[in-house]
Amino acid sequence: MKIICIGRNYREHAKELNNPIPEKPVFFMKPDTALLQKNNPFFYPGFSNNIQYETEIVLKINRNGKHIEDKFAHKYYDEIGIGIDFTARDLQTEQKKKGLPWEIAKAFDGAAPVGNFIGKDRFPNINNLQFSLKINSEIRQQGNTTDMIFSFDRIIAYVSQFISLKSGDLIFTGTPSGVGPTKINDHFEVFIEDEMLLEFNVK
Ligand code: MG
Repeated sequence: MKIICIGRNYREHAKELNNPIPEKPVFFMKPDTALLQKNNPFFYPGFSNNIQYETEIVLKINRNGKHIEDKFAHKYYDEIGIGIDFTARDLQTEQKKKGLPWEIAKAFDGAAPVGNFIGKDRFPNINNLQFSLKINSEIRQQGNTTDMIFSFDRIIAYVSQFISLKSGDLIFTGTPSGVGPTKINDHFEVFIEDEMLLEFNVK
């Protein structure tokens, strides 16, 4: 399986990192070794002093496809979940300055915690979903999928022009504003609407 991540998909987040609003989806990938499941702890890596959380809705691809049309994209995922796109912001900033790839800052072990997936049919409208992150019981980040620049279906259609999607692939759909640093001993609780779907500790 592979993990595809969309960058700059919420205007206010693009602004907070001084990035332009994209005209097309921006994407990058994390390897399967980045996946952190079953509420296992995240181990703060020694190569960064500024690991930041980005709370994102995650789509789970349920069938293989390429060149998927927007109008059929909804058939390629039944379940959604929530995840954290952990980013070594200090390393990413250096890479961006030099125009180099981001993998060193995005693809490291454990950089993609994801929680339980639930049927998208559980929600009346997945294009109007509230999601949030609490750290040590305090709300740190909140977003709503109405603020996405590119919809879930547009993301699937766009990415599948370049990369075949396979059953089991995950797509992180971008973070709203409010990203920030984490530290050892933080306790993460991550929600879609009122339901906690992911919980883990930083060690
Ligand atoms: Mg992100």
